[in-house]
Amino acid sequence: MTESNAFQNALAQYDRAATHLNLKRGIAESLRYPKRELTVNFPVRMDNGDVKMFTGYRVHHNTALGPTKGGIRFHQDVSLDEVRALAMWMTWKCSLMGLPYGGAKGGVIVDPKNLSNNEIETLTRRYATEISVLMSPQQDVPAPDVGTNGQIMAWIMDTYSMHHGFSMPAVVTGKPVEIGGSLGRIEATGRGVMFAAREALKQLRMNIEDASVAVQGFGNVGSIAARTAHEMGMRVVAVTDVTGGVYNPQGIDIPALIAHLNSTRSVTGFPEADSISNAELLALKVDLLIPAALENQITSANAKDVKCKVLAEGANGPTTPDADDILNDKGIFIIPDILCNGGGVVVSYFEWVQDLQSFFWEEAEINKQLERHVVGAFRRVIEAAQCLKIDNRTAAQVLAIRRVAEATMIRGIYP
Ligand code: NAD
Repeated sequence: MTESNAFQNALAQYDRAATHLNLKRGIAESLRYPKRELTVNFPVRMDNGDVKMFTGYRVHHNTALGPTKGGIRFHQDVSLDEVRALAMWMTWKCSLMGLPYGGAKGGVIVDPKNLSNNEIETLTRRYATEISVLMSPQQDVPAPDVGTNGQIMAWIMDTYSMHHGFSMPAVVTGKPVEIGGSLGRIEATGRGVMFAAREALKQLRMNIEDASVAVQGFGNVGSIAARTAHEMGMRVVAVTDVTGGVYNPQGIDIPALIAHLNSTRSVTGFPEADSISNAELLALKVDLLIPAALENQITSANAKDVKCKVLAEGANGPTTPDADDILNDKGIFIIPDILCNGGGVVVSYFEWVQDLQSFFWEEAEINKQLERHVVGAFRRVIEAAQCLKIDNRTAAQVLAIRRVAEATMIRGIYP
């Protein structure tokens, strides 16, 4: 098995969890497969008049619990196997968080940093048109992921609405609030990460005040998690992004770092901090390590160097199965991705419900319900891990897979 293949890793995690479930063979086998996969090759007219071809994907992993939900990624390393893995993890995440959704994911092979704003809009509208055969409020509801944001969701919603002749805000989530987005959605994933991390520190009887934190990735998830940690009184000592990193053992002023990022588009060069590499950040002796960038950051090659007490997986798939074994042997408390970053899809669900009802909630209510979902799922996972004497990731997957398997059995195999 290649440790760097995210889909192989997702399947290995699934197979491990399935051994604790006594599933019928046919059901166990069926859940290993994505339900449908679409590859689209499409042209985009660039600003200089040239036409360039791009490749994108949309994968629905499972629909037993309801319409599929999952982000859209714009990144140069997107591949079909990566999208399959992310779609499968979305199935388990929606199930674990108790949502009426299956899992999906999409992506385009592109580095958006190399495109103008106009080119990104054109690419987005064409990609949305290409995948619209699989997308609708009742069928599949995308959201932002790496390299995409609220503006891109707005273009997708507008494109889809133009084709139908009327506004359909419920077709995507993570939109700006002006066009049917939800209050609290931008912050939801990072905030949920910190609700889960806070519960883990409590579980381990560690101090929340002054807990030391390192964050890899300073985009939507990483920056909000860092800001929330800072607001909870923790000491964020290190942050990296794709350009480099900053380190200050006394703690970094996170609101000032966010302002620095907004003006320079990088965390590097921030005053009152030394520079630090990704490898050094992952090996820091901190209470809480939050990988919030991409998959496969902690592998069999560097897991032995990881010295945190709690690993809170803001990213999807940051730890490979081989690395998991090493971290579990070291006694590191892992909050697995499908639990740790599940707050994002929980508030996406709230956004979808608000759009369908055209009735919008206050932010305090949204944050309260978000906390209830994340803390509830955290407790269920810990209880299952203790009961079955298994690691947290396997416990989370056991709960998630069981719900999807039960729904599949109740629905029956068509025809
Ligand atoms: P983003 O594009 O907003 O941010 C990604 C960040 O990672 C950027 O700061 C980028 O510079 C950094 N990065 C990229 N490559 C890196 C590298 N090699 N080393 C260090 N940093 C690197 O993306 P995001 O939405 O914050 O997503 C981050 C992760 O969280 C992904 O795994 C995504 O699937 C997951 N996630 C996102 C959401 C969401 O609501 N956005 C929800 C659940 C999970």
